[in-house]
Amino acid sequence: MSGHRTLDDMGDIAGKRVLVREDLNVPMDGATVTDDTRLRAAAPTVAELADRGAIVLVLAHFGRPKGEKRADMSLAQVTRPFSDVLGRDVAFIGDCAGDEAAAAVARLAPGDIAVLENTRFHAGEEKNDPALVAAMAKLGDLYVNDAFSAAHRAHASTEGLAHVLPSFAGRSMEAELAALETALGKPEHPVAAVVGGAKVSSKLDVLTHLVTRVDHLIIGGGMANTFLAARGVDVGKSLCEHDLAATAESILDAADRANCTVHLPYDVVVAREFRANPPTRTVNVHEVAADEMILDIGPAATEALADVLKNCRTLVWNGPLGAFETPPFDTATVSLARTAAALTREGSIVSVAGGGDTVAALNQAGAAGDFSFVSTAGGAFLEWMEGKELPGVKALER
Ligand code: ADP
Ligand code: MG
Repeated sequence: MSGHRTLDDMGDIAGKRVLVREDLNVPMDGATVTDDTRLRAAAPTVAELADRGAIVLVLAHFGRPKGEKRADMSLAQVTRPFSDVLGRDVAFIGDCAGDEAAAAVARLAPGDIAVLENTRFHAGEEKNDPALVAAMAKLGDLYVNDAFSAAHRAHASTEGLAHVLPSFAGRSMEAELAALETALGKPEHPVAAVVGGAKVSSKLDVLTHLVTRVDHLIIGGGMANTFLAARGVDVGKSLCEHDLAATAESILDAADRANCTVHLPYDVVVAREFRANPPTRTVNVHEVAADEMILDIGPAATEALADVLKNCRTLVWNGPLGAFETPPFDTATVSLARTAAALTREGSIVSVAGGGDTVAALNQAGAAGDFSFVSTAGGAFLEWMEGKELPGVKALER
């Protein structure tokens, strides 16, 4: 993380054309942005560059047009909402490369902001095509990457440009990298990781990497069932990947060798039907009936996990502990999230969380605001938890 130049290293940028890669891929319902988190994350860098007199050219993708121009995936529709979030005028330019775009850029004045059309309208974007990289680079003098959430992809606008223009990390990228470094780069020990969610198969690399990095690995959600089954527990009709028993065993062995304590629940909340507020039972994991499903970890396990967190200095969290969308199976997730939030407020832990459903669950618990850092990057956050080098980040390194 040490090797990135930031906006502080750009010097005098008055009158310079700065290409800024942002994540503007917001969910929309008609003309309305239903969650503007990403627009708010992009705003500080764009505003700072404009205030410093740059001509700010925002690059971003929107949806998956796969190299085709599609009106329903035009960034024109995000320009107005972004302008509202910024509280400034934002122009729209109908291409991110080419002569027409160049002519439109030439009409902008220092301090102006423009959103350029969806980079993925060009097939070369996802191919990281040097010809597209060169064409985009012609529009700017400097490059800023502020989209951590797109940094796990080596695309023209997320990786290629960093090789041909002087490149810098934006404020949002900088904050994200600093938080991740604090949590898993050089964390204060003991470190606890909570890994939940539906399936072990989707997070195998995460688990394998984490056992070598953390002191406590807390496994919840559907994936705990796979581990319990591997240990001979009858999990009834629970979501469970029985074919991954050997893999689960090898992760437990690796944890053992690395002195990482793995925490599996010893009580669970079960139901016969998966719907809101069905009849439930709270039982020891050895008492699950053949026709029951484990849908949350139990109160005794949750309390024990709270005690684990109380003795840790760092927490990294991905994946809910239960089927949190369906009440009352959000109970353990909400409770442990609130414990983590309180410990963070007291200054006793640094807490970092990420993942689409995780963020939703933390919001549901009213805990997200108290975490030290909540990453909105889904795929990039997971790849970082897997210990992978993100191409968009690596390209910024000097
Ligand atoms: P994230 O998006 O934060 O990475 P995941 O997508 O891996 O998280 O997992 C979230 C999903 O896991 C949720 O939809 C949740 O309902 C589901 N889940 C958690 N626990 C269980 C369980 N015991 N049984 C079935 N589904 C579960
Ligand atoms: Mg998810």
